[in-house]
Amino acid sequence: MTMASPNPGFTPWSDRLRRSAIILIATALGLAASVVFGGLTLPQAGMIFLAIAGAALVPWNLHQSVPANDDMIGARPAETPVVQALVGGMPDAAVLLDRAGRVLHFNVAASQLAPALRKNELALFALRSPEIIAALRDAIATRQPQRASYVDRVPIDRWMELIVTPLSLPTAFGGSEYCILMTFHDQTPLRRVEEMRADFVANASHELRTPLAALSGFIDTLQGPARDDAKARERFLGIMHAQATRMARLIDDLLSLSRVELSAHVRPEKMVDVVPLVRQVVDGLEPLASERQVAIEVELPDAPVNVAGDSEELLRLLENLIENGLKYGASGGRVVVTLSEPAPGDAAGEVRLAVRDFGPGIAPEHLPRLTERFYRVDVGDSRAQGGTGLGLSLVKHILNRHRGRLLIESVPGQGATFTACFPAAKAAEKPSAGEKVAAKE
Ligand code: ADP
Repeated sequence: MTMASPNPGFTPWSDRLRRSAIILIATALGLAASVVFGGLTLPQAGMIFLAIAGAALVPWNLHQSVPANDDMIGARPAETPVVQALVGGMPDAAVLLDRAGRVLHFNVAASQLAPALRKNELALFALRSPEIIAALRDAIATRQPQRASYVDRVPIDRWMELIVTPLSLPTAFGGSEYCILMTFHDQTPLRRVEEMRADFVANASHELRTPLAALSGFIDTLQGPARDDAKARERFLGIMHAQATRMARLIDDLLSLSRVELSAHVRPEKMVDVVPLVRQVVDGLEPLASERQVAIEVELPDAPVNVAGDSEELLRLLENLIENGLKYGASGGRVVVTLSEPAPGDAAGEVRLAVRDFGPGIAPEHLPRLTERFYRVDVGDSRAQGGTGLGLSLVKHILNRHRGRLLIESVPGQGATFTACFPAAKAAEKPSAGEKVAAKE
């Protein structure tokens, strides 16, 4: 270990000579001048020189309380207010230690992470995780940067990364002060994204594999035992068609989702009238509604209702919400679609599009998770309805892009209401009465 010099109270001769060189040279020159011009005798000059040289070469560190000091008294850059301010201002948790591992400075984030940290005490006493302790010990011993990952369990689980960086700070006298900077980085958000990505790939593959397995199973059957059975062929081809449609729909939904995510940061600017969009989607879903024996009731204002939006995405949103009402709330016999504008003068008001059904509704424990990708209350029911589990996730992403929000209310047994809320168009953005608003781009 290179934690301290062999005799911590003694500065090496080479260092002392280097630091005192100017004093010695100046003294020698002054005394020589005095001998030549001032009548000072050589022995007197020699005595004076020896006295000054003796004082200049005293090992300074003898009267310093911290033995592990590389440089002259008053020349410890790590202890300056500038360094303290730098450590204090670091965005991540940061602790600066001296070469022996004693705490010099730490910031607020570090004290939250390790409340036992104290100035001038060894950091090892204040750090809980064995990974941190090992990395710190290695950095002190080897003077090489070290990294460690660990899970901080208090107050909640956080995945942390520690970076230990040995530093050599230059001093005013050309020397250097060795110290160690520890910075802690919270990797939890990154880790969550990574987990979500892995879950997503697993879910998507599973969802694709299921219809694919059904398709290849039926192909085998049609090539084998059912080769000459016309009735079975007809039935199997129908099922195969449904499975292929499901796969296509899943791929469509995945592509839509990634498109919306890619443009999430670009808020649509074009003003769109939502009224014709609602009519278009309701007309398109009439066949499904009559198949399910559900009446769609539409309550729309007479005047246009404008939002800053992307009409293609708004159509997808409407399709998903109304179709869900028809599929999952069919037993209620009706679906009510209501579009409302904020009251005049309500600058912070929202345009609200509510889709209400009177079906079985949704139990409260499912509500917060409905917009997660592939989340379904009843997987079998969703599949039977041709669902992909991506519809509400797409709705949420479309609303995020439009700076809107989705409200879900449900009383089990009485149906569910999904309300898409959009920021109302500002007066200046609204097209004048005669101006035509594009319903479809
Ligand atoms: P899916 O493709 O399965 O319909 P969604 O993301 O659109 O996927 O919906 C997720 C789940 O939410 C559905 O599987 C269903 O269980 C539930 N759900 C959505 N809308 C309704 C509704 N109106 N009534 C009851 N349950 C619903």
